Amino acid sequence: MTEVTFTDLGLSGPLLKALEVEKYTHPTPIQAQAIPLLLEGRDLFGLAQTGTGKTAAFTLPLLQRLNKDQKQPGRNGVRALILAPTRELAVQIGDSVRAYSHFCSIRHTVITGGVPQHRQVKAMSRGVDILVATPGRLLDLVNQRHVDLHCAETFILDEGDRMFDMGFIRDIRKIVQMLPRERHTMLFSATMPREIEKLAREILVNPAKIEVTPEVITVDRIKQHVFHVQGSRKRDLLHELMADPSLSRVIVFTRTKHGANRLADQLVKSGVNADAIHGNKSQGARQRALNDFKDNRSRVLVATDIASRGIDVDDVTHVINFDLPMEAESYVHRIGRTARAGAGGIAISFCDPSEKKYLRDIERLLKRPIDTAVNPLGAANDGGQGERRDRDENRNEQRRKPHRGQPAGKKFKAHKPKNNKAGGWEPKREEGNKQHKQQPEGARQEQRGQDGPKQHKRPTKPGGGNKPFRRSRNRRDAA
Ligand code: AMP
Repeated sequence: MTEVTFTDLGLSGPLLKALEVEKYTHPTPIQAQAIPLLLEGRDLFGLAQTGTGKTAAFTLPLLQRLNKDQKQPGRNGVRALILAPTRELAVQIGDSVRAYSHFCSIRHTVITGGVPQHRQVKAMSRGVDILVATPGRLLDLVNQRHVDLHCAETFILDEGDRMFDMGFIRDIRKIVQMLPRERHTMLFSATMPREIEKLAREILVNPAKIEVTPEVITVDRIKQHVFHVQGSRKRDLLHELMADPSLSRVIVFTRTKHGANRLADQLVKSGVNADAIHGNKSQGARQRALNDFKDNRSRVLVATDIASRGIDVDDVTHVINFDLPMEAESYVHRIGRTARAGAGGIAISFCDPSEKKYLRDIERLLKRPIDTAVNPLGAANDGGQGERRDRDENRNEQRRKPHRGQPAGKKFKAHKPKNNKAGGWEPKREEGNKQHKQQPEGARQEQRGQDGPKQHKRPTKPGGGNKPFRRSRNRRDAA
């Protein structure tokens, strides 16, 4: 995000109102750069990926111009054409056009293949201000004279490199031939292969060039750990970790806004200064939460992914993924909130059994596994991960169950988090069933003392179920 505001960029009232509804507080870098240039009428070549906010970067100035200069598109006519390589992207752009033009008087439609054409034909009969289309179906409808491009004042080609990969370049050249020579043109592409460079020279006139590289996050500087934990015990695990003062400036990520609020409230109740930041909060409330965090008035900021885009705070000691993100890229973005400005950082993820698929995706993206940390709540709370440990460990967990009247999870800490002088607290790593070797001697003795004589003849499932383990699994796991 940038320091400038959408008002600074020269956007008009109806658009500002729509952005407020969308809860966009600040323009993204590509928006800050592109919007003023496009409002001036410059052609543009944008080297930018999806996720940078490029759709709003080209849609907002387009809407401003079309809304100001109200004209009736002729029958089957189009005032602006946006081409996208896939149906999904076209629909997404159509949704953005609808959202941003909410307070404008603009007619738009989306034309893609894979669906019957009669609705699209009907939508085009009166003409539209903005047509979002994929190339194949557009050419079909042009050939059937249901779409007339000869009055289009603006042409936007999105994801140019993907168009090329999908074999649409010839179709695009055909479409460009149908457009007026005098027009406003924009080309966006994530990469710059030679074909795209050539196309840019053909279709753009004296273009401004903007390159927005995605934020580079040096994952290698971040120590990453994952705790396997049952969903219902995540809160206890967080409290356990927060007992260590070296977690001094912590961002905790949750999947939902409601979850963020609830967790922040729970942290406050347990004596940890915390606040939540997410899309449902007003700009003022978000800024206050961020300032309190920056000025050390709150120790924990609980955030959702969308809100995290605006978080640029130095010296975040730990990022905790209370819920794993569904998109692996979001993981990298989240953990990048620590280790800023060349510093190191620690990222801790809580993974319950239902989230293992997300963990696998993340590890695939990182091209390496994330270290598993020993769950300080004990193996009975690690969401089944303990099944991989030896049978004795499971027996011990059974015996650690509290007696009647004794508060659960209090007496049976496997170990206390310990301070690592160099870089703050780090979780203990798990190495298969040899985890006890890593524990301090005192902790080991404590465990032995607690274990006492054998009480159970049959091993039970971690988590307290009374069903016996399958023998074969036990043998294999013990090996
Ligand atoms: P895009 O790169 O256009 O696909 O946009 C990626 C996502 O960012 C979309 O979900 C947009 O709604 C969102 N987005 C775009 N601009 C902003 C902004 N200025 N503030 C917050 N979210 C934005």
